[in-house]
Amino acid sequence: MVDELSLDELVVLDEEAFRLHVRGWIEANYPLSVRYSTRRLHWHENKPWYMALSRKGWLAPGWPREYGGMGLDAARQLIMIEEMERFGAARVNDMGLIMLGPMLIRYASEEQKRRFLPRILSGEDIWCQGYSEPNAGSDLAALRLDAADGGDHWVLNGQKTWITLANDANWIFVLARTSKTGKKQEGISFLLLPMGSPGVSVRPIINLDLHDEFCEVFFDQVRVPKDMVVGEVDKGWSYAKALLGFERIAIGSPKLSSNGLARLRQLAVAVGKEEDPAFLDGYARFSMELADLKALYEAYVERLKRGEPIGPDVSILKIVQTELFQRITDAMLEIAGGHAGLLEPMPGEGGLHPAGSFLLARPSTIFGGSSEILRNILARNVLELPA
Ligand SMILES: Cc1cc2nc3c(=O)[nH]c(=O)nc-3n(C[C@H](O)[C@H](O)[C@H](O)COP(=O)(O)OP(=O)(O)OC[C@H]3O[C@@H](n4cnc5c(N)ncnc54)[C@H](O)[C@@H]3O)c2cc1C
Repeated sequence: MVDELSLDELVVLDEEAFRLHVRGWIEANYPLSVRYSTRRLHWHENKPWYMALSRKGWLAPGWPREYGGMGLDAARQLIMIEEMERFGAARVNDMGLIMLGPMLIRYASEEQKRRFLPRILSGEDIWCQGYSEPNAGSDLAALRLDAADGGDHWVLNGQKTWITLANDANWIFVLARTSKTGKKQEGISFLLLPMGSPGVSVRPIINLDLHDEFCEVFFDQVRVPKDMVVGEVDKGWSYAKALLGFERIAIGSPKLSSNGLARLRQLAVAVGKEEDPAFLDGYARFSMELADLKALYEAYVERLKRGEPIGPDVSILKIVQTELFQRITDAMLEIAGGHAGLLEPMPGEGGLHPAGSFLLARPSTIFGGSSEILRNILARNVLELPA
């Protein structure tokens, strides 16, 4: 049985005691039936864990205390991530927590914050991210979801695609075109709407792993009240970019690489390669890269906590994390032998699933900005290289 500590008591523990407390609580409360998943779980699968975190007040380690977050420093946020990964806890439906929430905290009206933030933390609202369209992915500003002025509301017509877990969400945040004059980055607005609005329909897409992880979302004469715009009308591009910064910090968190490296070692033991010099050489390199990644991540989390704007340089965090994760899962396949081709976890305890981990890692260099696009951003906006 783990002692119940209040948040005030928890945050003053030294880091080791904090870690042990978090570890003990996860071990005592995580639903074992969804441990070690290599795919994104649906809401009906991860809801018990989401609600346990909600009741505990641990859903939003990085949000300020005044909005229901834990207000943790970077080192303790990292410890929570490490302990979740260590135990094999699944990612929850977190678009409200890691993307929309931080963006609302910075840019939304007080009324919008009061209305939406508590409902994210209580699990009443599960959000999905409506950015990409069939011809607007990397070139996001080319988006065409049409928002026509209907007086006290906007009328949406068009389509979004690749929307992760839209089939679970009851709300969606979208970028829509409210004006067609000027540069393509102008005339975009950031809108919030219920997925149950008349005229919204969802069609799941089956991914390489044979799961309905993302969806197409269609809008046919969908009415959105004007008070559901975040910030200024036509100025959504700057909020959209800020949200991408939050997303890139979240994807850049070392959790997947950290978990991948632990699984790689476990796999090496399972297939008798743990003393193999080639394996040990690769493992040592990955460990050093992971240490670099953690240091980089901590620096960004601290910047976020100080309320500093996140600039284009955050691209490097996402590149380093996702490419390391891919190389770790490549190494899994190399040593997995016949298990590399299985679509199900290997037999035995621990749910080792080399092919599942490999497939999980593949799209990470695409979503949230592809590695090519992020390198372009670094070249242009950070290194100031010529176009
Ligand atoms: C698993 C997954 C989940 C996703 N979830 C969501 C979601 O929840 N919400 C959402 O809105 N979107 C989501 N996306 C969409 C994602 O943001 C886009 O796939 C991504 O932005 C790339 O856009 P695209 O697919 O249209 O590819 P494209 O933009 O067509 O790019 C194709 C290839 O060309 C390269 N390329 C394009 N332009 C350039 C250039 N100028 N220079 C160099 N290379 C270039 C790209 O790097 C890429 O390799 C998801 C995608 C995946 C794979």
